[in-house]
Amino acid sequence: MVDIEGWAHAYSGKVRDLYVPQSAAGFGSGEAMLVVASDRISAFDHVLPTDIPDKGKILTQLSLWWYGKLEGVVPNHLLSLDVPEEVRGRAMIVRKLEMVPVECVARGYLAGSGLEEYWSKGSVCGVALPPSLREGDKLPHAIYTPAAKAPAGQHDQNISFAETRNRVGVIATELRNLTLALYERARQIAAERGLILADTKFEFGLRDDSGSASAIMLADEVLTPDSSRYWAADSWRAGSQQTSFDKQFVRDWLTSPGSGWDRRTDDPPPALPPEIVERTRERYIEAFERITGTSPDLG
Ligand code: ATP
Ligand code: MG
Repeated sequence: MVDIEGWAHAYSGKVRDLYVPQSAAGFGSGEAMLVVASDRISAFDHVLPTDIPDKGKILTQLSLWWYGKLEGVVPNHLLSLDVPEEVRGRAMIVRKLEMVPVECVARGYLAGSGLEEYWSKGSVCGVALPPSLREGDKLPHAIYTPAAKAPAGQHDQNISFAETRNRVGVIATELRNLTLALYERARQIAAERGLILADTKFEFGLRDDSGSASAIMLADEVLTPDSSRYWAADSWRAGSQQTSFDKQFVRDWLTSPGSGWDRRTDDPPPALPPEIVERTRERYIEAFERITGTSPDLG
């Protein structure tokens, strides 16, 4: 984490460092925040000891690209890209929001925690699904499968729609509608580029305390490989695990005997070998290029 003149460090998530303005930053306190995406990578709910060079830039620039595409659906938190020089390319100044304590997930295909829940219950987050779907199958229609944010180091917990209403009140319906609308728009754009957007997670925040749907804004990272499952359409085959544009190499290596790490323990994961770092970095760049048709600015 870097010291940034005019900004005070306020919080660090697994990947992002958040700063609030001091007087010199030109924003009133309480309204703006500097979000800096580091090169940290997490897997299996652990932050790994090895960085992936340029990851923060790639993910920030991809989120910005998607904000532009999705502006018509819901306003987002971006205020300015006039950020301090030392974090240029990996940072944005955003409106500080009251974050909604629900992770808003949309799924169009069966994978990940959705698959696990389907296998054990035949439904996902209380949404009934047809029987005998296979891993990686396309769902008859996209479904909203919210999750409760877990404390650090723990898995987010899938919850029912009724449970989200208990947690967030009347805006629960609008969160579901927005999540599905954003997903449909994004999956159409991804499809034009030969990609399947299997699922994705959005985080929303409220710009005021009215508690009304009109206060909802799209926040956080959007449609990055860290928050989404992208698959290449031409190699998609239901009935098996698909290759994702994300941390596949990292997860595969960590769970291979060669890593010496046991996922079932609380031990911190080991450092990644240079080859895994490089392949993972290339995968993030490839995702950016396939989605946007341009290269990230890594200068
Ligand atoms: P957590 O921070 O809960 O550990 P994480 O590891 O995914 O989750 P990061 O992505 O590293 O978190 O950090 C981003 C943090 O900033 C998240 O907690 C997210 O909810 C929060 N956030 C994103 N946009 C805004 C915003 N506009 N206002 C307030 N908080 C925001
Ligand atoms: Mg996050």
